[in-house]
Amino acid sequence: MDAATLAAPPTVGGERRAHAVVIGSGFGGLAAAVRLGARGFRVTVLERLGEPGGRASVFRQDGFTFDAGPTIVTAPFLLEELWSLAGRRFADDVTLVPMDPFYRILFHDGAVFTYSGDPAAMRAEVARFSPGDVAGWERYMRLSAETCRIGFEGLGHVPFGSVLDMLRVAPDLLRLRAWKSVHGIVAEHFRDDRLRAVFSFHPLLIGGNPFSAPSVYCLIAALEQRWGVHSAMGGTGAIVRGLVSLIEGQGNRLRCGAEVEEILVAAGRARGVRLTGGETVAADLVVSNADAAFTYGTLLRRHPRRRWTDRRLARARYAMSLFVWYFGTRRRYDAVGHHTILLGPRYRDLLSDIFRRKVLAEDFSLYLHRPTATDPSLAPEGCDSLYVLSPVPNLQGEIDWETAAEPYRRAIAAHLSATLLPGLEGEVVTSRVMTPLDFRDRLLSVHGAAFGLEPVLLQSAWFRPNNRSEEVDGLYLVGAGTHPGAGLPGVISSAKVLDAVIPSPERFAHA
Ligand SMILES: Cc1cc2nc3c(=O)[nH]c(=O)nc-3n(C[C@H](O)[C@H](O)[C@H](O)COP(=O)(O)OP(=O)(O)OC[C@H]3O[C@@H](n4cnc5c(N)ncnc54)[C@H](O)[C@@H]3O)c2cc1C
Repeated sequence: MDAATLAAPPTVGGERRAHAVVIGSGFGGLAAAVRLGARGFRVTVLERLGEPGGRASVFRQDGFTFDAGPTIVTAPFLLEELWSLAGRRFADDVTLVPMDPFYRILFHDGAVFTYSGDPAAMRAEVARFSPGDVAGWERYMRLSAETCRIGFEGLGHVPFGSVLDMLRVAPDLLRLRAWKSVHGIVAEHFRDDRLRAVFSFHPLLIGGNPFSAPSVYCLIAALEQRWGVHSAMGGTGAIVRGLVSLIEGQGNRLRCGAEVEEILVAAGRARGVRLTGGETVAADLVVSNADAAFTYGTLLRRHPRRRWTDRRLARARYAMSLFVWYFGTRRRYDAVGHHTILLGPRYRDLLSDIFRRKVLAEDFSLYLHRPTATDPSLAPEGCDSLYVLSPVPNLQGEIDWETAAEPYRRAIAAHLSATLLPGLEGEVVTSRVMTPLDFRDRLLSVHGAAFGLEPVLLQSAWFRPNNRSEEVDGLYLVGAGTHPGAGLPGVISSAKVLDAVIPSPERFAHA
């Protein structure tokens, strides 16, 4: 790159302020921008889409409002922390509603497990399914709490930039038996197969297979119980809008419709970015919230890479993808709660179809989101706004989504009609689907993976693309593909790691 092609860094009142460019406005990118702004950096967020949020963007159609992605908000203190860094109060901008129950899990045989944060209710529910498993549940929740303390509170926001960092935590990982899968640990605590599914499905929320995600993800049960499961009034989009207002309130800027084509490197250091169209934006440091494999394989394609080579990226394991059907109905389904999980007849084999064989199965397990149970303003009066999500293989499989999408949607609609949403086919008034092709083409995710690199032990912590790039000085990574991983708590924590690895702005300004 010819460094002379970059515009001179701007000055404020004659004084130069270090400039950070953030590529992408997912939760990770927005959180990084707030943190950098709070530390005194001038920040520009560049987002290729027409609106912020990435997977958490919002669309409106025929009077219905749909959150495209995340709906379950956990660990809200992470959001409160961002607001207080910007000198504001989260509760002034966003109203979170605690979910009670967290979700209902509907089994294929019609049994329903009501999953809540109330230990007494959970004990009774476990006993109703399998009295002999109550003691195992108690042991499991203790283990989950210990895992949460070590894995989330202790390690979720600290950098893993060297093998030494890994060695430091090795005793904890051994104690947690991190080589075992979540399902392996759960199966040691529960005898009932249905309870094994209830307490092991959590890794799916962050793109992992319960049969191969490391046991550290057992922490999610305790994380939910300790800090609750919440929904935002107005949808998750209200949180995205709030984060953008923090960034703007810090005097910084979000530019939508600005797609980064390349990260510019001079003398081994990231110096800015080039946009499609040719414009260059100079920076003292670059934070990429784009898919980590895309960052290295495409945005840094012309730079020689030691660790994240094309070969390594080709051999990496990518998370599952998702098929999501957003729909509005002209009636309300008041018997259906905010979050429902519908488990299909197969568990382990279905997951093998998705993660290993990468074929589209005829059966499915679904997550049904009905936000109008909490906030009716998301749909016209008397109507419901819903989405249903089905985990499916990423594009490393051979599924032709151009032809498969509509029959798959119809099969899901028929299933919902026969179970929770009677007469559904005749009630739908607006509809849209998202397939793995959208994850690839709209969100620029390699292989259309919905959650970046798969969370397996050898792609976790130091083994994951590091938050401080191993390839180029002045380049940092946030979001699902870097440490600690996917999900709102994960990507917001990835931005917190930056505080430890990015020097103070003065160091850049005087460089
Ligand atoms: C349907 C769905 C439901 C989910 N539900 C939940 C949930 O309930 N709870 C939860 O905690 N998590 C959930 N998740 C996971 C969670 O949403 C994600 O892990 C998280 O939002 C990802 O954030 P991110 O920071 O990695 O950025 P992303 O959301 O991936 O955003 C990256 C942004 O970068 C932009 N970008 C990429 N390349 C470029 C470029 N070259 N130039 C400019 N911009 C670029 C993209 O357009 C995008 O806006 C869900 C995910 C999905 C898909």
